Amino acid sequence: MLITKSIRAAIEQVESDLMKDISIISLEYASELIGFDITQYHGVHWQNETQIIIGLNLKKPDTNENTFYHEILHAYLEKEEYAYITYNRENITGLNDDINDSQISKLAFYLGSSIQHPAVYKMMQNKFKVNMAEYFDTCVSQKIDRFYKKGSENSIFQQQQDIIDGFEYHYYDDYHKNKILEIFKDVSFDAYESCINIVMRINKKCSVFTSNGSKIAAQMLLARVKNYGEINKLGKLNRIWDAIIIN
Ligand SMILES: [Zn+2]
Repeated sequence: MLITKSIRAAIEQVESDLMKDISIISLEYASELIGFDITQYHGVHWQNETQIIIGLNLKKPDTNENTFYHEILHAYLEKEEYAYITYNRENITGLNDDINDSQISKLAFYLGSSIQHPAVYKMMQNKFKVNMAEYFDTCVSQKIDRFYKKGSENSIFQQQQDIIDGFEYHYYDDYHKNKILEIFKDVSFDAYESCINIVMRINKKCSVFTSNGSKIAAQMLLARVKNYGEINKLGKLNRIWDAIIIN
């Protein structure tokens, strides 16, 4: 990728703020390391004791700078103890042979991203002056793809993931929010309604822009998703959500 002057300045700032080194890798390599395919994403991040690893889509170089800011902001939020999602498959009973770790880690990743995104978007604008209208354009086209290119998973299970993903649409600017919510409504009305309803409840209860609020929001969203599985008779696959841990 092209390391621009502003990215270099951001790297220096983050390394000193968070006291960790940053390493940048391709999404192909990141997919190998995390065990599921994220090569169509714009970026990913995770961290260990000493390093923040940022994966970028090197086939879409024009997205790299904004995505880099986006991913490091997740690392900032984790330092500020925003909801951080992990999993423990031992919390699942009676399903162990039917699922693999990468399926659970994918759900943990989805929930963690969606819950942190309202704060990430706000900081992208305030801290790095990213043009958010352009950025949300790319989000919306990615989400449209997501709705229309579904794999072979159980459809109720997919709708549960739509509810989680739909949480973050509410924090786009009005134009992009309305655009993607219209599509959500068309594709899956029940999941859409369930999502709208839980977002309203969350916003009455807490602010998702605070670390404590983000944890409450994550609990409420997870509870809603499990409940959606029960109401729609997902069966034992619904137990997969028991593995999710909100830290
Ligand atoms: Zn993100």
